[in-house]
Amino acid sequence: MSKIILTGDRPTGKLHLGHYLGSLKTRVKLQEDSTNEIFIMIADQQALTDNADNPKKIQESIYEVALDYLAVGLDPERTTIFLQSQIPQLPELTVYFLNLVTMARLERNPTVKSEIKDKKFGASIPAGFFVYPVSQAADILAFKATHVPVGDDQKPMLEQAREIARDFNRIYQTETFVEPDIILPPKGQGRIVGIDGNGKMSKSLGNGIYLSDSEEEIQRKVMKMYTDPNHIHVEDPGQVEGNVVFTYLDLFDPDKEKVAQLKAHYERGGLGDVVLKRYLNEILQDHLRPIRQRRQELAGNREHILALLKRGSERAEKVAAQTLAEAKDAMGIQYFG
Ligand code: ATP
Ligand code: MG
Repeated sequence: MSKIILTGDRPTGKLHLGHYLGSLKTRVKLQEDSTNEIFIMIADQQALTDNADNPKKIQESIYEVALDYLAVGLDPERTTIFLQSQIPQLPELTVYFLNLVTMARLERNPTVKSEIKDKKFGASIPAGFFVYPVSQAADILAFKATHVPVGDDQKPMLEQAREIARDFNRIYQTETFVEPDIILPPKGQGRIVGIDGNGKMSKSLGNGIYLSDSEEEIQRKVMKMYTDPNHIHVEDPGQVEGNVVFTYLDLFDPDKEKVAQLKAHYERGGLGDVVLKRYLNEILQDHLRPIRQRRQELAGNREHILALLKRGSERAEKVAAQTLAEAKDAMGIQYFG
């Protein structure tokens, strides 16, 4: 069955292995089916909700995220890649949707709750940040997306989007909006842990291995990865569970038998962290080398990236304008015909 797909990323930095497994890989796979219509949004407006004082960072990251897309194989000929801020229909829809959502409902969102904690907003939560799930619903619903491929942290956002679609259609007696389904990555890949072992790998937490990292950077990060703090001497028995090196080996090493042997050896004692980390380093280097090379080839050509974003944004705006017109029609607010 053909699908309409919308997903995206916040341009708050370069993309990392969490994005790769949690979302990018699924997108590239969906792109192989030419009956799918795919929209990929660089969410620069959403990024500003918690970075209002740093538009320069967002501007720079737009370009970096676009490079990451191309490097992993997203093809602008087959996929519409666009910039959120260039589609004025999205904030317009957001305004109407905000009236359908209560403060209490927004406060219940577990992802937003934990982000507020991580970002240390205290009592000074930007209102725009607090309501970003509603703007995200507008992004998804404006394209009538049937499927949204995202990581586990996005489940509450999808639930919120479905509720808004349902409520809008009910209140205004219309079928304008489609309730989207979530496409989650394979088990274990929806919330990749950071190299510090502290929760999710995240651009904002500085605990990621980036698709653009140099060979030396990757090695340096692997060498300081969180393992078992009680595994002090090589001969000590070590713990595999919660050990980030093994988490990444499970995710990236195609040789499952070898990983099982390493785990048994580690638990028995006699396998040192350095040897183990060197092995993981090789595996990660093999994965990231072709992506980095492709990225470097494209990196010099800013004009090309800007042109493809402009083209994508023009295409996206046409679709969003059509949906907004239908929504306003349903609400009876097209006063001048
Ligand atoms: P920020 O810290 O600015 O929120 P982020 O690293 O969380 O950045 P987003 O742009 O918010 O990245 O997320 C983009 C997509 O990548 C979403 O679908 C999200 O679920 C997915 N994703 C982000 N981090 C991970 C992760 N560690 N593991 C799996 N998927 C992830
Ligand atoms: Mg995020």
